[in-house]
Amino acid sequence: MSHHETADIAIIGAGAAGLMAAYWAARANSRLRVVALDGATKLGAKILVAGGGRCNVTHDEVDEGAYAGSTRPAIRKILRRFDVAQTIEFFAENDVDLKVEDSGKLFPVTDQARTVLDGLVRAAESVGVRIWHPRRVEHITREDGLFSIRGSWGDLPARRVILATGGKSLPKSGSDGLGYTFAQGLGHSLTPRITPSLVPLLLPKDHPLTTLSGISTVVRIALHDGRGKLIVSFDDSLLLAHFGVSGPAALDISRYILDTRPDDPAATLRVNWLPDIAPEQADAALVEAGKLTPMRWIGERLPDRLIRVLCAEAVIDPIVPLSNLTRPQRQTLARTLTAYVLPVSGDRGYTYAEVTAGGVPLSELDLKTMESRVTPGLHLCGEICDVDGRIGGYNFQWAWSSGYVAGIGAADSFGKA
Ligand SMILES: Cc1cc2nc3c(=O)[nH]c(=O)nc-3n(C[C@H](O)[C@H](O)[C@H](O)COP(=O)(O)OP(=O)(O)OC[C@H]3O[C@@H](n4cnc5c(N)ncnc54)[C@H](O)[C@@H]3O)c2cc1C
Repeated sequence: MSHHETADIAIIGAGAAGLMAAYWAARANSRLRVVALDGATKLGAKILVAGGGRCNVTHDEVDEGAYAGSTRPAIRKILRRFDVAQTIEFFAENDVDLKVEDSGKLFPVTDQARTVLDGLVRAAESVGVRIWHPRRVEHITREDGLFSIRGSWGDLPARRVILATGGKSLPKSGSDGLGYTFAQGLGHSLTPRITPSLVPLLLPKDHPLTTLSGISTVVRIALHDGRGKLIVSFDDSLLLAHFGVSGPAALDISRYILDTRPDDPAATLRVNWLPDIAPEQADAALVEAGKLTPMRWIGERLPDRLIRVLCAEAVIDPIVPLSNLTRPQRQTLARTLTAYVLPVSGDRGYTYAEVTAGGVPLSELDLKTMESRVTPGLHLCGEICDVDGRIGGYNFQWAWSSGYVAGIGAADSFGKA
């Protein structure tokens, strides 16, 4: 097809959601000319780096509770249309066998993200999708029912457009947020806040925890509002780093603190380093420990260096018997061990964020087709939508499910094949 021919469906962005949408659109109706455009020289940068190069494709238990952003019922509606079983089947049909690990995460049996990307591209090409890259799109307009897609490479008229440009995370992969400008230009609104999600958090320079880089321990991390009320908590590993905190516990809670802080600057993140002891029970547990020293009492559960730093912060000698502490000293130690306030000073930004929170509200889309309620003929899918998931394969599952719904929806609008 030359550039002067009209595409039936043009997909902007050939990432996870775009490739999935393209495949299902072309498969649903083989007469359609389906073109996927991507600005990147090398396709699928994000799929290739995902999951430490192994690509965590999905999770064996996916439900709307693992997501934030638009309403849970709306998210559920999309996830149900293309669930984990269908995802496994789709990949198997395209020679990508997946395995479940103990964590519940699914990876390709090859442990190579490349297998996943190759499978997706092969699938799309096998049903006749044309993938044009590098073709960065700079403008999308709509006139007389036809879209015009333009870039320095020329222009492409299209009857329908699927916007799958992703969010802003890992901008060097090509997802730099221009897609939001397209959505707005075509009449959509964006959530008031768009922030990094699954992003490491910063602590003030010289904070004692930053000396413990490399230590990882299972904690309960909790966000409390300015009045002390619990907003959300996660039980998972916290990784201490020279800049602050990372690991699944910090990543999962990051979008909540970034979303809460602007309106409630007094909101705090609290770490329970001994997650099986509730903060209210900690003082009693220390009393019960009797003559044991802090080092002996928690030595089997936390690394020595961490215990020393925590005791130093509570101004307590780690090798004095707990029974020697005054009541206020013991209470301070109890708080430090189970309700430690992390003075988060910022986040590492989109370069280190796995996903973007916020985007185009699902309320502006017809969830049966992911078609815009504002601009007929426009569909949206993937991370550009106001949906972000936890660590564990949930973000790709959103890309697969929403890409499927958008692809089938766009194809069906041409009548049944
Ligand atoms: C380091 C890292 C690791 C991750 N690991 C996992 C994981 O293991 N499991 C998981 O579930 N999720 C993971 N994620 C999240 C996951 O990668 C994203 O949620 C998912 O890729 C979103 O899919 P998408 O298709 O919406 O967007 P993207 O994958 O970002 O794709 C968007 C595409 O659009 C193209 N594009 C953007 N703008 C334009 C334009 N103007 N013109 C042309 N093309 C354009 C981009 O080049 C890109 O190819 C990870 C993310 C990162 C950054």
